[in-house]
Amino acid sequence: MHVRKGDTVVVIAGKEKGKRGRVLRVLTDKERVVVERVNMVKRHTKPTQANPRGGILDKEGTVALSNVALWCGKCGKGRRAKAELRQGQKKRRVCVNCGSLFESA
Ligand SMILES: [Zn+2]
Repeated sequence: MHVRKGDTVVVIAGKEKGKRGRVLRVLTDKERVVVERVNMVKRHTKPTQANPRGGILDKEGTVALSNVALWCGKCGKGRRAKAELRQGQKKRRVCVNCGSLFESA
């Protein structure tokens, strides 16, 4: 699993290629992620208490995990993360290229 909930990712393949957004959900078993405003789909929903009118809603669909990369703001590109270890600190994920920290907001 190279991304976590809250990470900013960029889509690197598929029809949504180039789009960026925050990871809303990681579906570990399906190896897919839900990314903010990426791969919007129409959902035909029945009325519920939360949404008494029902109808057609725009919702994020899932994207294959292999089609997204962590977004590095400093590089302005999708980058892989490497683990950085420092004595007495938690393992941190940093950009392989520029070393800036990936934080999951
Ligand atoms: Zn970088």
